Amino acid sequence: AEGLVERGFEGVTVIEGEDHVLPRALDPDMAAGLEDRIRDRGVDLRTGVRVRAVRTEGAEKVVALPEGEVRADFVLLATGVRPRVELARAAGLEIGPTGGVAVDPFLRTRDPSVYAVGDCMETWERVTGQRHPVLPMLASHTNRSGRLVARNIHHGPRFEYPGTCLPFGIELFGLTVATCGLTGALAERWGLDTVAVRSRGVLAKPQLGGSRVEIKVRALRATGRVVGVQAVGGPGTARLVDRAILAVGEGVPPHRLSLTETVYSPTLNVAYDAFTQAVDRLLLAGGWF
Ligand SMILES: Cc1cc2nc3c(=O)[nH]c(=O)nc-3n(C[C@H](O)[C@H](O)[C@H](O)COP(=O)(O)OP(=O)(O)OC[C@H]3O[C@@H](n4cnc5c(N)ncnc54)[C@H](O)[C@@H]3O)c2cc1C
Repeated sequence: AEGLVERGFEGVTVIEGEDHVLPRALDPDMAAGLEDRIRDRGVDLRTGVRVRAVRTEGAEKVVALPEGEVRADFVLLATGVRPRVELARAAGLEIGPTGGVAVDPFLRTRDPSVYAVGDCMETWERVTGQRHPVLPMLASHTNRSGRLVARNIHHGPRFEYPGTCLPFGIELFGLTVATCGLTGALAERWGLDTVAVRSRGVLAKPQLGGSRVEIKVRALRATGRVVGVQAVGGPGTARLVDRAILAVGEGVPPHRLSLTETVYSPTLNVAYDAFTQAVDRLLLAGGWF
């Protein structure tokens, strides 16, 4: 949609079946600002609407909705991806509950002479300590799993894959979305009781051009372990979440996070950075101070 708007197309419509945009990455409250931005740029964004059918009428495509229809010059479908595992299944390899090829910690399939990497491979999250099976299908994890398998093939299976922190990032209409770990919906699906706080901050001093960022941090109620970070903001937002990923993946306790310094100079950051401020709010909300 952004590409079409930038190229001067009018009447761009986005139809999203879930009740908010980027549902795998963002909670509804964190998606709200992004949705405002998308609409402000002239896109007719409709959430919570499921497409019934698409048909051709003359030169037009007609998208049938539960109520009414949208007529368009063309329709672009983007409804998700899933691995094609027919070959793996036919070869007798195990397919995991997420639909990816199941692997052991060395990324070997059920046949130890066959490894699986990348989008087709089921992995596990390293965020909760419970290793839920997941299928990230993203390049950051794919690159690392591929390199690890190369080492295991070369040296013999001795390097274990730690699992994924579920990182995600995208730039849309001038806003950066960067996240890792669990959304509220995923935590609920896994039956995890979590505490989450939202916080607003800046990525450098505003008078020196620093942009704003909104952050949400989620922790397990029982232990305080940080299991999810969502951030929407200006340039620098991804860097902030990259820092969070290490903490989330390694299970760094929040009170340690709160005392972990960042690089500071007025044009680069603020001395007490936005992520640390959000973690402090979390500590208060969870009663861990
Ligand atoms: C439009 C788009 C945008 C994306 N943007 C991002 C992003 O911003 N950030 C991010 O983290 N991830 C992104 N991804 C996901 C990322 O590209 C994938 O996670 C990554 O490429 C997966 O790597 P892979 O090696 O597992 O599979 P692929 O990159 O899909 O490589 C598999 C290769 O196998 C080949 N192949 C298939 N079948 C056979 C066969 N029978 N014999 C021989 N070769 C075969 C294919 O041609 C292909 O070249 C994006 C994906 C898409 C489609």
